[in-house]
Amino acid sequence: MASKKVQNTMLKYRLYPTPEQAELFDKTFDCCRYLWNQMLSDEREFYFAADQHFIPTPARYKKEAPFLKEVDSQALVTVHQNLRRAFQFFFDKPGTYGYPAFKRKKGSKNTYTTYNNPAETRVYMTGGGIRLPKAGIVKARLHRRPLHWWKLKSATVTKTPSGKYFCSLLYAYPVGERPQQLPAPEGTIGLNYSMGHFYADSDGRMPDPPHWLAQSEARLSEMQRRLSRMQRGSKNYEKQLQKIRLLHEHIANQRMDFIHKESRRIADRCQAVCVREGNLQQMARRMKLGSVNDSGFGMFRSCVQYKLARQGKPYIVVDPYFPSAKTCHQCGHVQEELPLTQRVWTCPACGAVLQREVNAAKNLKRQGLGQIGKKPKTSG
Ligand SMILES: [Zn+2]
Repeated sequence: MASKKVQNTMLKYRLYPTPEQAELFDKTFDCCRYLWNQMLSDEREFYFAADQHFIPTPARYKKEAPFLKEVDSQALVTVHQNLRRAFQFFFDKPGTYGYPAFKRKKGSKNTYTTYNNPAETRVYMTGGGIRLPKAGIVKARLHRRPLHWWKLKSATVTKTPSGKYFCSLLYAYPVGERPQQLPAPEGTIGLNYSMGHFYADSDGRMPDPPHWLAQSEARLSEMQRRLSRMQRGSKNYEKQLQKIRLLHEHIANQRMDFIHKESRRIADRCQAVCVREGNLQQMARRMKLGSVNDSGFGMFRSCVQYKLARQGKPYIVVDPYFPSAKTCHQCGHVQEELPLTQRVWTCPACGAVLQREVNAAKNLKRQGLGQIGKKPKTSG
């Protein structure tokens, strides 16, 4: 029977608003910030006066600040929810989450989120754009369309520091519990983080991010050097700063593009993928140890995951404590000591010469297939 599991997915589009629509967006960002700050300061006042945690609803502010009525009211409700959630986090784990902070215009993100509700479709896609409350139909580059059974839940409008507008649409769709067919070993790969390359897989592939990405990064540091020699606040300085912002965006896009292509290729080609989750902190430490390979591996991993999920293919998470790097994939010997810097090692038991990350990927594959094929063993 179909299960009630729901998967979420996000599609992001570049918006091309008219000047009036852009003005409305900017006003909405400002209103959201304003409301956040008002609610936060009132919460503090209530707390000091009555020792009570209380956040008034947006409606209470509209009389004193009539400009709030000009923007999408749902966006303001979202601010209220976000602030409530921020306090919830703070109350639950004050050590991890700080006390909610005020939002300055400078340095805080230009963003707002609006929702569809069951009674009313407020956000939807049209032939050439996206319909948003108050703004109407905003022209957009719709490079990708949702599948017809996906349900549009929310839209988040953002503005980048260089002045471009984007809209992220969140969709939900049920994931049917299909009769699970076990993936064939030939169609399964193990995927491992790689220090010197982008990733390593169990077939021995170790692709690198394309050279143009490195070129852009080199250009960026050259431009930053030039900026440091300019007079702060001068016209040329501002011009250079804008150029740098655009290049930053360009690099982020290039990297995302590479990640999407690479993960799509894997999801299309494979029946299943085995990875190791967790230990991201350790990985971050390793990244510092390695070259300037700005990895994005975590992003890559989640792209692979949702692309597989869309095709109903398993994404198998291997126990993070499984010693994938230290086990010889040929004979199963476990090497006690294996320094992180050692990229190639020879198994003392069987003599196999092993590339560290490919060997680990092969082990992840075997372990992952073992996990879904049979019940986990009880003995260690
Ligand atoms: Zn061996």
